[in-house]
Formats: sequence, structure tokens, C-alpha cells
Amino acid sequence: MTVAKRPVWRLTAWYVVIIMVISIIFSTIIYQLTLTQLRHSLPARTHFDTDVAPLFDPPLDSRVASYFEQQYEAAVNSLRLRLLLLNIGVLASGSVASYYLAKRTLRPIEQSLEDQRHFTADASHELRTPLAAMKSEIEVALKGKAADEHRRVLSSNLEEIQKLERLANSLLNLARHDVNGSAVKMVPVELAVVVNEAVDRLSPMAKQKHQKIIADQTEARVFGDQLKLTELLVILLDNAIKYSHDNGAITLKVATSGKHVNIKVVDQGIGIAEADVPHIFNRFYRADVSRTGSGADGYGLGLAIAKRIVELHRGSIQVDSKQGTGTTISVSLPKA
Ligand code: ATP
Ligand code: MG
Repeated sequence: MTVAKRPVWRLTAWYVVIIMVISIIFSTIIYQLTLTQLRHSLPARTHFDTDVAPLFDPPLDSRVASYFEQQYEAAVNSLRLRLLLLNIGVLASGSVASYYLAKRTLRPIEQSLEDQRHFTADASHELRTPLAAMKSEIEVALKGKAADEHRRVLSSNLEEIQKLERLANSLLNLARHDVNGSAVKMVPVELAVVVNEAVDRLSPMAKQKHQKIIADQTEARVFGDQLKLTELLVILLDNAIKYSHDNGAITLKVATSGKHVNIKVVDQGIGIAEADVPHIFNRFYRADVSRTGSGADGYGLGLAIAKRIVELHRGSIQVDSKQGTGTTISVSLPKA
């Protein structure tokens, strides 16, 4: 990504000013110290100074004194020139270095601002769509008189309100995880409890699609926050159900390896196209519905929240999917 020019120049200017102030201070110190030393080593200087008593008695021969004076002048001039060249060098190399440093400093800040802008734009768009739909339905209904029409509009609006409610909850969830990033209570959690809670919550949804959730009962303990871990599995199971065909099966596998516990949510659903895989953890990203033909509801926030939860637990999350065959989401968490 490109970084905006103005802030880069401004930061560069500040860096250069700081470098030059330091360089000039040091140059002045070096200049003064060298001058003092030269004065001490050049007796003719004192001798020629009419206000000061001659150091040598009898006074030095005037030719010798003039020689010393010339030497002194030459040394001072050469010192000035060298310090000037040094400062020009510092200015030139400092400017180049400052420019690259400023660019590097500003890049992550610009990136997060850009993400924030995208996020706000996407969120506003998602909020506007159902609101616009409700508004136009209400306007049409107010013009008519039929009670049936009013009932239909009210029930349709209720659906939109439920969607908005879900969106607001997801946004709140995401914001909370961002704000309380460091506040995760890391305690040993029995994974079976988390798995059962998540499966219980999603069983009604699976039942509607005549799907079976087969959950591994392997005993394992992970370090983490029970509520957040339940939420993570709910998100993954919700996707597995949503993006699988009726009568399918979803498997939840648990295995320990070394210092980690690996959880896999496997489905034989519609899968994810290769082009979509790198983006599915982005906020508001949804694979092209026309391509997948899923037609499922959602805002593209589930996996972004899941990823954040996994990061807060210092774990990792991976996706392995083939379009038309199925998806496996693997999560690795620290073992307790
Ligand atoms: P939300 O979770 O906010 O209700 P969502 O399910 O669309 O909406 P995510 O959970 O973030 O959002 O998933 C992002 C996209 O990744 C989905 O839109 C879908 O295209 C794809 N995806 C995620 N999980 C699966 C899966 N198990 N099978 C196929 N596609 C999936
Ligand atoms: Mg989802």
C-alpha cells in the first residue's frame, strides 16, 4: 500500500531537524574543545594579543610568532571546513534515512487507519441496507389500507430487525475483543465442556437441515476463557452447518500433540473457492454467493471474530477447503 505523502514529509522533516540539532551541538562542542586545545598549544597567539601579557620572556621573534599565527588560522579554517562537510554529509544521509524511516513508521499506522475506514464503510453499508428496505416497505404500506398488507410488512420488518440485531451483536463482539485484547482470563478449561455447550447451542439449527454433528469426546484441557472458546466453536459449527447440504454430517475432532490441542471442524459442504480462501478471515468478507450458490444469511464477521479469539489465546487457525467437497477448519490452542 502507498503511504500518504504529506505526513511522510512532515515526519521526515522532524527527524532531520532532530538529527541536525544533535549534529550541530556535537560539532560546536568539538569546535570549542579543539579551539581551546589549539590556543594552549600556540604561544604566538597569546604573544600577539596586545591586551594579554606575553607568555615568553623575552618575547618570541615576530617571524616565529607570525608562523604560529598562520598555523593556528590554517588549523581553525580546516576544522571549520571539515565540520561543515561533516554536517552537510549528516544532512544528506540523515534526510534519506529519515525519509525511509518515516515511511516505515507510518505504514502500519496508515494500514490500520485504512482498515478502520473499510470497516466503517462496510458496517454502515450493512446497516443501511435493511433500514432502507424497512423504510420503503413502511412507506408503501402507509399508502394502502389492507390489514393483511400491514401484517406482511410488520413480519418482514421484524425479520430485518432480527438481522440488524445480529449484526449489532457481531459488531459489539468484535469491538469487545479488540478493546479487551489483553483481558482474556487464561485458566485451564475442560474442552469437552466447551464442545458440548457449542453442540447443544447448534443442534436445533442442524436438526432443521437434518444434519448430524458428530463430536469427538477425547479428554483434553486447554488454557483459555471458557465463554470465548465456546463462542469460537459456535462460529465454526454455525458455518459448517450453514454451508453444508441437508442430511450431511459435521465432525468435530480433538487431538493433542506436544504442547497443543488441535480441534478440527470438518464438513462435506459446498467448500470454499481457492480465490476466496485468503480472504475469509477478513471482516465483512463473504464468498461470492452466486458462485457458491449457498444463499445463506450472514455478514462475514464470524471468522473474523473466530480468528481474533484464537489470537487472544495465542493459538492458530487454518483452513483447508475444496470447492464442492468440503471444508476443514483447524484450530490449535495451548494445552493446559
Ligand atoms: P456471519 O458468520 O457473520 O453470520 P458468514 O458466515 O458469511 O457470516 P464468516 O463466518 O466470516 O461469515 O465466513 C466468511 C465466508 O467464508 C462465508 O461467507 C463463506 O463464504 C465462507 N465459509 C466459511 N466457512 C465455510 C464452510 N465451512 N464451508 C464453506 N464456506 C465457508
Ligand atoms: Mg459465519
